[in-house]
Amino acid sequence: AYKNVLITGCSSGIGLALAVRLAKDELKRFKVIATMRDMAKKGPLEEKAGETLEQTLQIRPLDVTCEDSIRQCVAAIPDQRVDVLVSNAGVGLIGPLECHSMAAMQRVLDTNFLGLVRLVREVFPSMKRRRQGHIVVMSSILGQQGEPWALRSEGGRGRGLKGVRLEPLALIAFCPPGLLFNDVYCASKFAVEGFCESLALQALKFGINISLLEPGPVVTEFEKKLYEEVASMDFSKVDDETRDIFQGFYMTYSKDVFSALGQTPEEVAEHAVQVIGASSPPFRCQTNSVYTPLTTLKHADPSGQLPLSAFHQLVFQHDRLFRASLSLLKMLQWRKRRDLGPLPRPPAPP
Ligand code: NAD
Repeated sequence: AYKNVLITGCSSGIGLALAVRLAKDELKRFKVIATMRDMAKKGPLEEKAGETLEQTLQIRPLDVTCEDSIRQCVAAIPDQRVDVLVSNAGVGLIGPLECHSMAAMQRVLDTNFLGLVRLVREVFPSMKRRRQGHIVVMSSILGQQGEPWALRSEGGRGRGLKGVRLEPLALIAFCPPGLLFNDVYCASKFAVEGFCESLALQALKFGINISLLEPGPVVTEFEKKLYEEVASMDFSKVDDETRDIFQGFYMTYSKDVFSALGQTPEEVAEHAVQVIGASSPPFRCQTNSVYTPLTTLKHADPSGQLPLSAFHQLVFQHDRLFRASLSLLKMLQWRKRRDLGPLPRPPAPP
């Protein structure tokens, strides 16, 4: 028996990659209802879907900000049976808070958070009746951590930085794409996480699983759209210092982080396939292991002071260290893509 998988936001990026990956599943376990807001953008998905089109993959319209659109899409599925819901559609927003209109911020919350809520309200009752189902939600590492930096340490001798033990030889300090200026986007993903944490308890009672996927940076149109929005942003209400931090510092580093740490949408889709195929799916899945120490640090100090002060120091006082570690990360990524393996170790001293 196959599973009906409904995915939102499939015209590009992770949604497109996942729809194609599931439709081409060798064991033919899935029928994919790949949905998108604007059907005029179905070309790239059709092309990648190839001969799976109208076999194991159908393309249907669905706008997550419109209840009618969701209802119509689900109503057209035989027995309205959605076995796996993948809530993937999402939008970003970067920049100083003073630059955003209320409408722009509402759009982020309406799409990223209420979009998920609308979808769940539509499929949850029938999942409960059938006592089975799986809700897979594309969250973000920024749904776990709003702080600007990540610290990673491996091996070597330790050294203290405001109470954080850092390993000098292999210290890698880097910022996720969120560093600063992602306040409303972070809030939307925190909302998603809180919603799912509460709902998961009820879901479990009915034999339904909920899984949050938490990618770090992923190289998709998402990044390009963010930068396009910045190009037409109104900076008139922002003080010079904040504008300089954003335009001079953030924009450069954001691009560096995407190129040094960004995963491909196919890599993230592969994690999603593992989660969907698991007999006992995890509640959380981080797709980029580089970010795991970051979230661990958050939970290590309930006061929140430890990561906040360490991150603040790194961003504003140790930016040379930061630049150096990003260059190192970029080089490691470059070697990995070319299959060159890790950097050779220096010879042992005589
Ligand atoms: P993307 O821009 O390529 O894909 C997002 C998709 O959502 C697009 O197809 C877009 O048209 C669709 N969408 C937007 N509003 C919609 C609406 N109202 N109804 C239906 N569809 C709508 O970017 P992506 O990177 O593939 O993003 C997919 C998800 O992954 C998002 O939820 C995003 O927040 C999350 N995410 C992305 C990154 C990243 O760095 N790219 C990192 C972590 C999490």
